[in-house]
Order: sequence, then C-alpha cells, then structure tokens
Amino acid sequence: MKKAVRFRFWGVRGSIPCPGPDTVRTGGNTACIELRFGEENRLVIIDAGSGIRALGDFVMKNDLPKGPVDTDILISHTHWDHIMGFPFFTPIYIKSTNLRIYGPVSYEEENLEEIIGGQLRYRYFPVRQDELSAHIEYRELKEASFEIGEGIFITTKYLNHPILCLGYRFEYGGKIFCTAYDTEPFRNVFPTDPNDPSYDAAAAEEGELAAEEENKKLVRFLQGADVLVFDAQYTLQEYKASKIGWGHSTFEHAVNTAHKAGVKKLFFFHHDPLRTDAQLDEFAAKYRAMVKGKTPLVIEVAREGYEFEV
Ligand SMILES: [Zn+2]
Ligand SMILES: [Zn+2]
Repeated sequence: MKKAVRFRFWGVRGSIPCPGPDTVRTGGNTACIELRFGEENRLVIIDAGSGIRALGDFVMKNDLPKGPVDTDILISHTHWDHIMGFPFFTPIYIKSTNLRIYGPVSYEEENLEEIIGGQLRYRYFPVRQDELSAHIEYRELKEASFEIGEGIFITTKYLNHPILCLGYRFEYGGKIFCTAYDTEPFRNVFPTDPNDPSYDAAAAEEGELAAEEENKKLVRFLQGADVLVFDAQYTLQEYKASKIGWGHSTFEHAVNTAHKAGVKKLFFFHHDPLRTDAQLDEFAAKYRAMVKGKTPLVIEVAREGYEFEV
C-alpha cells in the first residue's frame, strides 16, 4: 500500500487575517494545515486559525458523504491566530463528528477546553459551547512521542515563544513532515556585555552554552525532514530593529536551521500580515540564489490552497 503524506495549506499568515489585493496570491488566513495519510486518506489538522473555516466546508463536502468526520486537530499553541477559526469549523455542529483536540497549556488554572471551546460563549459568539453536537475530546500535550493512527508517529518539541508552543514531527511510512513555527532562536538570557552592572562572566558563558544547546536540540528534532514548515515572519533587519523576544524567526534562521537539519524542502510560514505577495516572491528568489550550489535544500513560500505530496 502506498504510504504517502499529502498536505495542503488553508492558512499561512501569522497574527491576524489580512485579506486584500497585496496578499491575494499567498492568502490572508491564519495558520491551518491539512494532512492526509495513506490511501485511507486519514485527516489530521494542524492549528485552527481562520483558514480552518474553508477546510471545514471542504470536509463537509468531500469527507462527510463517505462517512462521519473522525479527526484530530493538533494545536501548536493557544494564541488567537491559531485557534480563532475553531467556532467556524462546521463539522463541530454535526452530531456524527468525532474530534480530538491536542495542544499545550501554559496556565494551569485554565484547561484546553476552556481556552479553545471557551470562544463559544455569548460575549464572543452567538452559539455556546454546550450547544455543539459533535463529540469533542481535549487532550493536553507536553513534549511526547505517540501514535495517532495506524503507523502515524508524532513527536512534539517545545519551541521558543512567550507561551508554551509545540513543534510537531510526523513520521509515516519513512516520510517525515515537521512544523516549527511561532518560535525564535534560543538566546542567552544573561547580560553578555562586561560593562553591564549585572554582568557575571560565569552566568554569561553558561547562558551562551544553554542557548546553543537548545538550538541544537531543535535541529536534531527536525533532522532529515522531507518537509519543514518553519516560522519566517521577519527579515533579519526587522528582527534586530524591534522584534527580539516576540517569539518569531527570520528567513535567515529558517534557512540555516533547515540546512543544518538536512531538510529536503522548506516552507516559509507564518507570514507577517504586512508582507506582500511581491515581497515574498522577492525573498524566496533571494534565498534560493543564496543557497544555490551550497545545499540541495529547496525553498518554497507556503501559500493558501497549495497541495503537495511526500
Ligand atoms: Zn502565531
Ligand atoms: Zn504565537
């Protein structure tokens, strides 16, 4: 039996949906990726950004006629751009739907159900959570390895973001598909300038080593991926000017990490809402030219509606 992984982007933006003439080719919806495994076409969804609305309509039209919708949604983290589409995912209003929602939770006083399902309350939305017809189970995730369906192995890894955020590694029939977005390079948390009054040489060195080790761990997590979907929200210039600590990466960091991990195909993802189609074309061309002849890495821009197979 052919063990292929197919995937399609339904939302590729970070932060907030941004439809308009400058984003129409790349798409304006926030994070949502559809994965399909093997000939049985098993569906797994990563993130419930605004892109999941159209995916829900697609599932209603194409999957439901063949039988009840039975699927897993893996949430990278609970920032709004990754969960805002959930109330608009039509299969949750169908009685026969079986849904398992996985994700990390930073604040233990609230569980995943309160955070994601809690968007369905009158102050935000005209339907309440307890009016949903589908069977929905919430499962809180930490760093772990588990099997989600026959032969679909998942490993998760914490990323560097202001709240707990997970990267996902899927292994299926020898194919590897990874995501690592809403993350920035791990940095030394101690002052490294000897003129800084709180400078401590030992702490500075220890911090340097710890950051380096964490960056290496991420490379190991992504090792050998056929496909890597990676955060590329900023240019190096934008990042250094005012975005350090916001939890996002640069195009350079995406390319370097993918190269070090021996990734075959890298998708720039979580595009900044201000990033135009023309800029993304320009950046992709720039980085393709930069790596040409130095690495076999293939660089792509994640675009809404694009479908691929590995
Ligand atoms: Zn985000
Ligand atoms: Zn985030």
